[in-house]
Amino acid sequence: MEVPRRGRGKAMAVDAEEINLYEILGVEKSSTKVEIKKAYHKVFSPSALSSHPDKVPEDERPEAEMRFKAVSQAYEILHDDEKRRLYDTHGMSAFDPSRGNGMDGDVDFDDILSHMFGMRMGGQPHPGFGGGPMMPRKGRDEEKKYEVTLEELYKGKTTKFASTKNVICNICKGSGGKEKAKPKTCATCHGRGFTQGLRSVGPGLVTQETVMCSSCKGAGKLFKERDRCRKCKGDRVIEKTNFLEIYIPRGSKQGDRIVLSGEADQEPDQEPGDLVFVLSEIAHERFTRAGPDLTAHLEITLAESLCGFSRVVLKHLDGRGIHINHPRGHILRPSQVLKVPGEGMPIKKSDAKGDLYLIVDVIFPDDGWLKADDDATVMKLNELLPKPKKQISAETVDEVEYEAGASLEEFGANSDDPRGGSGWVDEDEAEDIQCAQQ
Ligand SMILES: [Zn+2]
Ligand SMILES: [Zn+2]
Repeated sequence: MEVPRRGRGKAMAVDAEEINLYEILGVEKSSTKVEIKKAYHKVFSPSALSSHPDKVPEDERPEAEMRFKAVSQAYEILHDDEKRRLYDTHGMSAFDPSRGNGMDGDVDFDDILSHMFGMRMGGQPHPGFGGGPMMPRKGRDEEKKYEVTLEELYKGKTTKFASTKNVICNICKGSGGKEKAKPKTCATCHGRGFTQGLRSVGPGLVTQETVMCSSCKGAGKLFKERDRCRKCKGDRVIEKTNFLEIYIPRGSKQGDRIVLSGEADQEPDQEPGDLVFVLSEIAHERFTRAGPDLTAHLEITLAESLCGFSRVVLKHLDGRGIHINHPRGHILRPSQVLKVPGEGMPIKKSDAKGDLYLIVDVIFPDDGWLKADDDATVMKLNELLPKPKKQISAETVDEVEYEAGASLEEFGANSDDPRGGSGWVDEDEAEDIQCAQQ
């Protein structure tokens, strides 16, 4: 269930390389840094102030804003040797934030393009353009982690819970004002709903970015104190608690998304975003899951490994006992794997299930099970159990000392021979070792 994020995208779309930054600044491609700087300052000179966003008529403002933003952006790239080189070689795609390089800022080239060149990079037009506030069509989705046990994923689960979210005020219907009251244009943003802020994008580099006006919360209009809606105090939204239900289908897995359409916070003039629960599987003490399959350990005694058994070996995720009948004559060895078809996890939207892999653990008797002086049992066991096939003969024989609890991690560990130790030490470990040695 992949849910694409909506709202105003900040990544540029494909045709972005067609932007000509030299053209935006009005300079030649061969121009020097000084010339670029001059061109940039000319735009912001007193003689050019008539086109400054704050000086133009209201309905031309967004366009003037965009022009200024584009010029700033062009300058930011072209007056930086490294960025200019990148731009000359790769075009604007070098600064595509989705590729993880260049400027990671909230540079909305979609807007720049549509206003500079009358192009639009896909999607529907923003409502409210032409003087009004810029608002994404759809509100932000809200993501929440939802922890589930393997049992719940096996059986499926429906759960109800209380959820508090913002909804449009029912008294003022989202206007924020009393009936018949007239809002006035927000003084902070001049009715635009957003303001320009400067943000540092590197040493000595700033970029302009558009942020929602904090005074009017993007509405562009405000009510006087006494004209504000009594219920929401002019906020236009109120908090509301309602009961939601989510259904987790059996066989769901880690990372699955349960989407409650339109259940995120509401904002006036916006379609509310979705409330999304992202499933997070809690590790299980008996079972390990990989896709539709499960593994578990099958603990048997030494006698069972030799003689066979018929018993319940495991309790499944739905509480059923799993009975295994292992006949005499087939010895089960440590780490041997038994595959039980159809006893894995359910597969979503079907009646099929994955498989269960049982890994044999032979529980050997404890030390001391055989008393040192119990010669009778030793004789009996030696009689019962198979003898070594062949004695090793050698001319010289040394009886040696040994440690019984050694680890192969130590084997060759102090050499750079890749066949030794754990074979490979990762950087973090290497660092830890160095620290410990100092
Ligand atoms: Zn209200
Ligand atoms: Zn405002």
